[in-house]
Amino acid sequence: MPVMKKRAQSNVASSSLSAPVRYLKGVGPQTAEKLARLGIQQVWDLFFHLPLRYQDRTQIVPIGALVVGEEVLVQGEVLASDVRFGRRRMLLTRISDGTGSLTLRFFHFTASQQAGLQRGTWVRCYGEVRHGQATPELAHPEYHEIEPHQPLPEDARLTPIYPTTEGVRQASMRTLTDQALARLLSDRASAASDEDSLQELLPGEVLTQLRMPPLAEAIHYVHRPPVEASQHDLAEGSHPAQQRLAFEELLAQQLSMQQLREKNRAQRAPRFEVTGELRQQLLAQLPFKLTSAQRRVVDEVIRDLQQPCPMQRLVQGDVGCGKTVVAVLAVLQAVEAGYQAVVMAPTELLAEQHRQNFAQWLAPLDIKMEWLSGKSKGKVRTAALARIRSGEAQVVVGTHALFQEEVVFAKLGFVVVDEQHRFGVHQRLALREKGRQQGSFPHQLIMTATPIPRTLAMTAYADLDSSVIDELPPGRKSVETVVLPDGRRDEVVQRVHQACRSGCQTYWVCTLIEESETLQCQAAEDTVAQLAEALPDLCVALIHGRLKSQEKEAAMAAFKAGETDLLVATTVIEVGVDIPNASLMVIENAERLGLAQLHQLRGRVGRGSEKSHCVLMYHAPLSEQGKARLAAMRETNDGFEIARRDLALRGPGEILGTRQTGELQFRIADVARDQAMIPEVNRTARLLMQQYPQRVAPIIRRWLGDAARYGDV
Ligand code: ADP
Ligand code: MG
Repeated sequence: MPVMKKRAQSNVASSSLSAPVRYLKGVGPQTAEKLARLGIQQVWDLFFHLPLRYQDRTQIVPIGALVVGEEVLVQGEVLASDVRFGRRRMLLTRISDGTGSLTLRFFHFTASQQAGLQRGTWVRCYGEVRHGQATPELAHPEYHEIEPHQPLPEDARLTPIYPTTEGVRQASMRTLTDQALARLLSDRASAASDEDSLQELLPGEVLTQLRMPPLAEAIHYVHRPPVEASQHDLAEGSHPAQQRLAFEELLAQQLSMQQLREKNRAQRAPRFEVTGELRQQLLAQLPFKLTSAQRRVVDEVIRDLQQPCPMQRLVQGDVGCGKTVVAVLAVLQAVEAGYQAVVMAPTELLAEQHRQNFAQWLAPLDIKMEWLSGKSKGKVRTAALARIRSGEAQVVVGTHALFQEEVVFAKLGFVVVDEQHRFGVHQRLALREKGRQQGSFPHQLIMTATPIPRTLAMTAYADLDSSVIDELPPGRKSVETVVLPDGRRDEVVQRVHQACRSGCQTYWVCTLIEESETLQCQAAEDTVAQLAEALPDLCVALIHGRLKSQEKEAAMAAFKAGETDLLVATTVIEVGVDIPNASLMVIENAERLGLAQLHQLRGRVGRGSEKSHCVLMYHAPLSEQGKARLAAMRETNDGFEIARRDLALRGPGEILGTRQTGELQFRIADVARDQAMIPEVNRTARLLMQQYPQRVAPIIRRWLGDAARYGDV
């Protein structure tokens, strides 16, 4: 008995939409493996594997009316088929439909193909028309045999062209999707179990309001659009059927992020209920007043820190808005409550700068700070680790070295991650784990100077609360930017000379993308030699990633102290470096950098009260994108505006950095293209969680699979 029951069950499974693709006709183990490479494992995965484009094969073109260069559907009777032996063996088949004749040319063919193309047979072919010697030709057309003068089926549809992989032909993709679509129809007819079917999960009110078709209809449409479908809309991805799918995919992602957020809310964290005495002391000692945006964000953070669940807050703010001081004020809450705090930066240079700032702020308050970088070695390192472990170190500043297993905290309550786009989510999690104590987690403050357009933030960071410092400290002037071809390098060198002579310091940034760091450092070394020769009365120094820590520190310290006039650097100075006296920056080969990176680099100047300038030198010719990027830099200093343009030019990858990898990879949605619907996605997510909670898990599972990719981040 049990055996029979088992078989019955597996029959249901093999015909369901969740069955493995190998249950489809024509799919053996090899094809199944190839399909898996395309992300197609279950039958319904085929639905989400959308055509790249469509061909119109709904009109038969008379052979007499063929135009070279067009892709056409033709049919005719075979007049003759001959194998030719030239430099290559080939099969030439001549066909005619009474209006003219056409040659089909095959370089690869089988004996049975040859036998099938005998005189008198009728074939229908699709291909691009080329010039031939006696007649027009189709090289390697797709073709199949038909009845003489057979008409086209009446419900002719556009022909989808799928993304495919070596060894899976378009024709196979079409027969597979045919089978899957047929199952979709019968699935809707029968009352298949919910788990195995593609039931509609969006509430009717949402579909009506958004004017979107139901799921099954949308799937059918995008795979087999009718002849009158707008090829333009389909190509743009703006057809309601495509938007319907993108919407649900974005919704699934949103729901899974919201679930994470809820999960986080259910966790415990230490409450920092303190008087704020240390914070007041530091504020009194600062040489400036906080901006109102900084005050607002500090308040938001402090409120979170008094909650019994872990803070997960993202602080965004343009370069130079003063995030570091916000971080230290929050750190003081933790210290006052008796917890350790850790501040992590993505580069040695930035970590070193934080170390100096924090030391200067914390020492008068009698707070013990520890420093840990990859370069901390031997006894120094052992001693640092011991002080972190014992709890003697109240604040720890460092780089990636802080992730290492041997770093153990006595009582970690607060984690600050600066410039988080440089870190992976996993690194952030590793640090969080270090603060795990009896089911309680540390609070996290995540800072980024890469402004993120609101819609993108709503998608990528839906699991975090977010604060924006939307104000720069008073007295900052925007950086005036000029764009020049590198043919005018001599002029630029003269300008640097003048600027330095009149007392302002200059950065000269050398860029080499996609080549090794060694080459980059080499280029910087060559540049420094040339500039030192051209400008003998200036003090020129060099900084790059291959220098020893102490050399880097010394170079930065000398520049900060005003001893160096001109600092030649690689992009190591991109993040965080803060030297207000520098007021001119030259960037070589600026066309090679992305907008976000250019904006970060330029943010190194314009920090003091002097008017600052930035010269973007490029090497002609510029691509269209390159032009657009440099124009954006010239036109605006606003990081959010730059981010919006970057999103339009290059999509979300560039803006989100590491975080994006693997997490915002959608099958159908495109955050840049579909950003207009994101606020609505957000609203729908809330509606589902409140009114249709039982639909949440099925939507997430449908799009993200069981091992929800957004996992435990
Ligand atoms: P970012 O947000 O890019 O990390 P920083 O925290 O490095 O910026 O701050 C940039 C500079 O502005 C620092 O020199 C800092 O001391 C200064 N600063 C920060 N807040 C203020 C303020 N409210 N008024 C004046 N200067 C400030
Ligand atoms: Mg910073």
